[in-house]
Order: sequence, then C-alpha cells, then structure tokens
Amino acid sequence: MAKKVVIVGAGPSGVLLAHYLLQRDEDYQVEIYERRNDPRSIPLSKSRTFPIVINQRGITALSNIEGLVEILKSASIESTGSLNHEKNGKTQLLPRNQPIYILDRTQLVIILLETLTAKYNSDRLNIYFENQCNVVDFEAKTVIFSKVVSADHTRNITVNYDLLIGADGARSQVREQFLSTDEFEVEQKYVPSAYKSIFLPANSATSLKPGYIHTWRRGDGITAILVHRIDGSLSGTVNFPRENNLMANFSTTKEISQFFSDRFPEIAQILPESEAEAFLNRPISSIITIRCNRYHHGDSVLLIGDAAHATSPSLGQGCNASFEDVDFFDKLLDEYSDDIAKAIAQFSLRRKPDAHALVELSNNAFPLSGRLLFLEFFIRLRSANILHQLFPKYFSPSLFQLLSESTVPYSEILNIYKNWIAKVKQANEKFLYQFGQLKSQ
Ligand SMILES: Cc1cc2nc3c(=O)[nH]c(=O)nc-3n(C[C@H](O)[C@H](O)[C@H](O)COP(=O)(O)OP(=O)(O)OC[C@H]3O[C@@H](n4cnc5c(N)ncnc54)[C@H](O)[C@@H]3O)c2cc1C
Repeated sequence: MAKKVVIVGAGPSGVLLAHYLLQRDEDYQVEIYERRNDPRSIPLSKSRTFPIVINQRGITALSNIEGLVEILKSASIESTGSLNHEKNGKTQLLPRNQPIYILDRTQLVIILLETLTAKYNSDRLNIYFENQCNVVDFEAKTVIFSKVVSADHTRNITVNYDLLIGADGARSQVREQFLSTDEFEVEQKYVPSAYKSIFLPANSATSLKPGYIHTWRRGDGITAILVHRIDGSLSGTVNFPRENNLMANFSTTKEISQFFSDRFPEIAQILPESEAEAFLNRPISSIITIRCNRYHHGDSVLLIGDAAHATSPSLGQGCNASFEDVDFFDKLLDEYSDDIAKAIAQFSLRRKPDAHALVELSNNAFPLSGRLLFLEFFIRLRSANILHQLFPKYFSPSLFQLLSESTVPYSEILNIYKNWIAKVKQANEKFLYQFGQLKSQ
C-alpha cells in the first residue's frame, strides 16, 4: 500500500531522505515542502549560503545513492588539511590523512535536488517551493502550508500524511508542535559566537593556497575561516563573541578594512572595497544548538537533521550528522521491515546518545581562548596522529580523525576524549563569563 511521506524542508537532510525513501521501495510517495524559493532558479551569488565540509560520515551516507558522491566531488574543492595563520605571518599545518570535500550549502542542495528530479517524476515525487509549514495537526495527520500569492493574499493548503518528516532546520516548526505533546523536552541555547559571511573574488595575488581550510584564531574569541570555491573565489565566515562584539559598532568600510588589516592581513590583501561594504551591511547571524529528549511523535512524525540536533558549526559536523541520520533511519526501516511506527521510535532511542554527544563535542572541542590551551590542542592532535600510526592497538586516532575520517559514533568519541572536552569546557566557560554571556543565557 502506498505510503505518503511529507517532508518539511528541502535542505540537505530532507532532500537526501527523499532519495533514500524513493530508492528503497515503490510504495513510498514523497512530497517536499520548502518555504524558500527553488535554489536552482536563483544565481548562486544572490543566495544566502556558506561553505560546508563533507567528511567521511557524509560521504558514507551519500554513497548509498548511485552517482551522488561522484557529482558532489566534481563540484567540490578537495582539501587535505587546514592552515592556521598566526599573528606573526607564519602558518601551522594540520594535515589530514583523508581528504574532505568543500562546497556551498546552496550548491549541495542543488546537486541533491537535480539528481532527485532526474530520477523520479511526479507519480512519486512532488516538490513545492515557497510553501511554509505553519500548523501541524498530529491527531488528524495533516499539515497546513501557506504560500504568498500576491502582496495582500496568502493561500493555505492542507496536506495529509502517513509519515511526516520535520527536516526544517534549527528553528523547526514541526518541532514547535511537539511542545504541545506530553513529556517532550527541548533545550535551545545560543552558541557563544555569532558570524558574518564573507565572499572574496578570485585573486591571483593571494598567498592563500587552494586545497586548505584557512583559519585565523586570535585567542580573543574572534576567528575567521576561509576556503576556496571551485571557480577560484573564496568564501567563509568571520566569527566573534555574540555579545560585546566589535562588529556591531562598525559603521564605515574604512573601519572594516582596518579590522581585517589588524587581525587578518592575508584577507585584507584581497578584500575589495565592494566586499568591505557588503560585509558591513551583511546581517550578523546567530546559531542555536538543540537537544531534544525524543525525535518522534506517535506512529507517524519524525525530526531529522538540524531540527533534531542543531549544533555549533565549529567542527563542521552538522550536515554530515544530518546525512548520517538518513542512513540510520534507512537501516531501521530495514530492521523493522518498513514498520514506520517501530522505526521512528527506535530512531529516538538509538540516535539520541550520539546527537547529544555531537552537541557537547561541537561546543567544547576547540578552546575559545588561551594560547597555552591552543598549543596543547595542536600538540595533542599531532601526537595522537603519530602514536596511533605507530601503535594502533594502544592509541586512538586523534579526535579530529575520529570525527571526520571515521563513522565511529559520536557518543564513543565523547567517551574517548571526555577529559579533553571537560578541560576545554571549563576554560571556555571561564572565558565566556568575562563577556557575561553565560550569565545572560
Ligand atoms: C556558518 C555555518 C557553517 C557550517 N559548516 C558546516 C560544515 O562545514 N559541515 C557540516 O557538516 N555542517 C556545517 N554546518 C551545519 C549545516 O549547515 C547544517 O547542519 C545542515 O544544513 C542541516 O541540514 P538540514 O537539512 O537538517 O537543515 P537546514 O539546512 O537548515 O534546512 C532546513 C530547510 O527547511 C526549510 N524550512 C525551515 N522552516 C520551514 C517551514 N516552516 N516550512 C517549510 N520549510 C522550512 C529551510 O528554508 C531550509 O531549506 C554549518 C552551518 C553554518 C551556519
């Protein structure tokens, strides 16, 4: 019998799940509803985007859909390490054993959508853009979506479902409806740092080598991350403490240029006046983390991806973990012979330890400040790599190898590195108290 799956959100997790369900069984019929425009119809330069690093976890999940990994790789920059730019102009290399793949979030979604619509027609797949989920009725198994049709007119449609997937990101509307159900708990916290995106045109004069993630950490909570795009341009983010941040006080492009010259001279060298102005006017984005005590409701609703466990982007795991969710759910459907009620209940039970561990790791793997702690961080990383290579039986791979080059569950990684995480957490909390951020949360 046909199973109608309504997916709210055409982000990475929602669209990959559609691939999996349509591939698994002809009985699945999928409708995706997305509140934004179709990204395929907007020039990339105009879309709100940022670079996403796809690691082994993401690749493993994507590889279950034929051809997807190859397409993704051809649209990505392959990176074999990070280069940390120090104040004195020197760089510190953090090599990787396995490459990671970097592309813009919008590009990633376009690839997932194009490959999906190339395979399935409207008999089994329908995608509706500019349709915002407003209300879910869990009893009636219906969702109301609204679409703006003219300046003063919005059209509502009511859609029924057999399975409803909330893949609608950190500020999920589907999750919002869980709050009216019994014993649902959700913890929402702001990440201490906020960010602004930055985009730089291709510039042959740059000293920034392609193929690396370029980072700048100044020990005062202000950092920058920059990566090349496939066309030679660069994109990234400048991150700074959410409160008491310098950024809110800037009002001229001269101040912006000075800010980059003082802190990130390698960026200042290739920052055109036009981008300094765009950067000044770009909004400051804040990030929330989400921890829930369950991801399913009844026999027919499931949260996945950021809707279930939004995390700080500091480790570049959110999207990879969202792809893992899809694979994880697919395996549960195998195990329970497509009995949806059982599979979603098991998803809550079995995925929760890893989702909670991911939030903890992302908040506390990197020290926010302190030169000595940074030094210890680099030494630990290097020595773990060497020791694991020499004595794999006795020494674990480094924290970052486990996160990016394996599919070892996050809860196991947290257990292996609990001492380091506890140490950084303590230091980060101390640092944040100086800014008054923890008190005000
Ligand atoms: C600056 C930054 C850098 C990052 N870097 C990395 C990285 O390097 N590696 C990594 O793995 N992760 C990274 N992440 C995290 C990653 O972006 C997310 O984990 C990932 O996008 C989650 O995918 P998702 O599909 O679950 O949610 P989202 O990407 O948030 O997609 C949700 C979709 O739902 C739609 N939606 C929302 N509400 C509604 C509604 N009411 N009705 C209909 N549609 C709705 C949204 O428009 C959106 O398209 C980064 C995040 C940020 C902010």
